[in-house]
Amino acid sequence: MSVDSSVDRRDESQTAGNGNGNGVVTVCNRSIYSSQRLRLNRNEAHQSENYDDLDLDFNSSLYGKLEQYLPPNMLTVARDVKLEFMKEILDRYLTEHDRIRPLHKQIYDMHPTTFFVPSFIKAITENTEESLRSIISEPSPGVYTFEMLQPDFCELLLSEVESFEKWVQEAKFKIMRPNTMNKYGAVLDDFGLETMLDHLMNNFIRPISKVFFPEVGGTSLDSHHGFVVEYGKDRDYELGFHVDDSEVTLNVCLGKQFSGGELFFRGVRCDKHVNTDTQPEEVFDYSHVPGHGVLHRGRHRHGARPTTSGHRTNLLLWCRSSVFRESRKYQRDFPNWCGECLLEKKERQRQSVEATKKELLKREGEPMVSVIP
Ligand SMILES: [Zn+2]
Repeated sequence: MSVDSSVDRRDESQTAGNGNGNGVVTVCNRSIYSSQRLRLNRNEAHQSENYDDLDLDFNSSLYGKLEQYLPPNMLTVARDVKLEFMKEILDRYLTEHDRIRPLHKQIYDMHPTTFFVPSFIKAITENTEESLRSIISEPSPGVYTFEMLQPDFCELLLSEVESFEKWVQEAKFKIMRPNTMNKYGAVLDDFGLETMLDHLMNNFIRPISKVFFPEVGGTSLDSHHGFVVEYGKDRDYELGFHVDDSEVTLNVCLGKQFSGGELFFRGVRCDKHVNTDTQPEEVFDYSHVPGHGVLHRGRHRHGARPTTSGHRTNLLLWCRSSVFRESRKYQRDFPNWCGECLLEKKERQRQSVEATKKELLKREGEPMVSVIP
């Protein structure tokens, strides 16, 4: 790598013989300015362009200052050319972590009044079964739906995800997809939303789960996996029948315009019974409404029908309980939440009743005894 001839004499004397340009920022490969280097000392006499009118990753004054370090031949080129050059330098200079710039800082901390609709906040604040039931519907056993997010917050989160994905694309960074089934979408915990989502689980989802899902660890949710999934043209089309790796799943539609994409539910099952038949009363289809949340057990078998037009993005929060996971290892069946275990239990009870009846009938001369199952 050679020291560029355009570097002024003073700088050349200071950088010559230093192959790696100690103290200078070297821009390498790819760009047409690949061999250009910044000056070692700032040219304070140079009148920088004004960058105030642009939407940039950093404060516009930074670009003005950085311009004074540009090599002399760069000072006379157009503003957008200078800017491209400086953006490239900043991009390469910063660490991977520093390069993810939040677009909307306000969504990285929990601000209930800007995130949630007032009815949701009120019910959570009152924190009684009655107040929760007043805002939550149960259209099918174990599926709870409620109005949750403000439209403005949905917009902010959608644009934040778009910005994150754009960054991923530009940096040619391999994105970690949310799970084994979705090709599109992103893990929210990976770009700084972990703390906010933790707050969401602890202070908003756990109080609800305590009331509706105590038998699957709803009271002791202690970790989460938060991500978004995207459906529509150039995105995922549908999602097959599956169970989640969670005790309780929150699924909120963020928008925007779409048709199709209904969630279909087919009963809750333990590991042993995950592929057993669906009972007619377990069949339930739900159509997403932007801003509305659906809460269900992770083991509630479900899938998403094709999103036939438009684009649909959903926020998913898989909530887990380590206490529940540990205690599950010592149990053989789960009639209090698995539909099939419950059927088996009822069948055992029926057989036991039958056997008792037969035994009683065998006894001669004794009056009939009716057994209440
Ligand atoms: Zn079971």
